[in-house]
Amino acid sequence: MARTQPKLASVDGSNLIEIEQVVKTFSNAAGEFTALRGIDLSFEEGEFVAVIGKSGSGKSTLLNMFTGIDHPTSGKVLVGGVDIYAMSESKRSLWRGRNLGIVFQFFQLLPMLNLLENVMLPMDYVGMYEVNERPKRAMELLHMVGLEEQAQKLPRAVSTGQQQSAAIARALSTDAPIIVADEPTGNLDSRSASHIIDLFAELSSRGKTIVMVTHDPSMTKRTSRTVVISDGVIVNETIAQALPLLSQSLMKELSNKVEKIGFQPGETIIRSKESIPKFFMIVSGAVDIILQGRGKDNLIISQLGMNDFFGEIELMRGGKSIASVRAAADTPVEVLALSREDFSWLMEASPLTEKSIGNIVQKRLEEKKQADRRKRKGLFGRKAKTE
Ligand code: ADP
Ligand code: MG
Repeated sequence: MARTQPKLASVDGSNLIEIEQVVKTFSNAAGEFTALRGIDLSFEEGEFVAVIGKSGSGKSTLLNMFTGIDHPTSGKVLVGGVDIYAMSESKRSLWRGRNLGIVFQFFQLLPMLNLLENVMLPMDYVGMYEVNERPKRAMELLHMVGLEEQAQKLPRAVSTGQQQSAAIARALSTDAPIIVADEPTGNLDSRSASHIIDLFAELSSRGKTIVMVTHDPSMTKRTSRTVVISDGVIVNETIAQALPLLSQSLMKELSNKVEKIGFQPGETIIRSKESIPKFFMIVSGAVDIILQGRGKDNLIISQLGMNDFFGEIELMRGGKSIASVRAAADTPVEVLALSREDFSWLMEASPLTEKSIGNIVQKRLEEKKQADRRKRKGLFGRKAKTE
């Protein structure tokens, strides 16, 4: 399937897609609504990006800004160094056909064309491949998404999931260097969804840039980066994932208060029985929670990973740390740290977050109690043997 990529003007050292201070305001009879409120965002060539956010947060509007489908109210969008809104409408449309493969949220297959013809349509539009080569190429794509047997059917004669798969095949039909997909797996069963993600991952490993809106949090494990949008603003991913009940404005305020700290593999972050004045959220890597016994008797009671937090037990209850926390042996750890004062501010500002952290504290204390019990038994067992 490897073919030469249509060339986007490459500008050395800069990003493939640059979105600068983009604002989008919709005006209609009901008044004005600002869906994007000053977005700064860039994507590098070859990135596989997941865009997540609640329904209505501005995900589709954001995609429309760099696919050239809709105009920003203000701000600038550069793709491959080209200001796409400086082009005429017709030039932009051709530019889009050559450079972007788009999977729309509602597919937008042409109802009077069969699936094969739908997939061939973009090839016709940009004049890609010899005319007699197009059906074969379109068939390969339909095969790739499991639709070769439905090729001659009209969209309405196949299931919603199959229509979505056909829309994905169509987006790949001109071998565009950038694939933009709006909830491409929303109508697929988990097996087909996973197959599509495999396909995207492979395309990105071969240099295509893929930006995918998704509702499914498990998909973000497969992408190289996650962008979180909330009420038209990009928010810090770790904060949004670790503390999802915060309002968008609190997420933004919090982003300015946290400090990023790195730890080497195996490095101690918190020592037990010391007071820790901070709340930590894990950006990358993993940490071990360790109960210290006498001498070398250590027991790892749990491991926390990306978007988990720790330090909250002591901050909420006061007192010294009940366990130590260490970067896992095999990987460095990056955390966002929040001071005690800022943590108190946050709990006061978001009672829902305070309540949910409170529940986690209860759960973790219970786990610790059980671990203590196991540990005591273990020690007695060993003692009994040596005596
Ligand atoms: P998402 O894709 O995250 O669900 P959208 O980008 O579709 O969200 O929409 C973001 C917000 O902008 C929503 O509140 C939506 O109602 C509003 N919106 C989107 N398109 C229009 C439009 N053409 N006219 C008016 N409001 C719109
Ligand atoms: Mg949408």
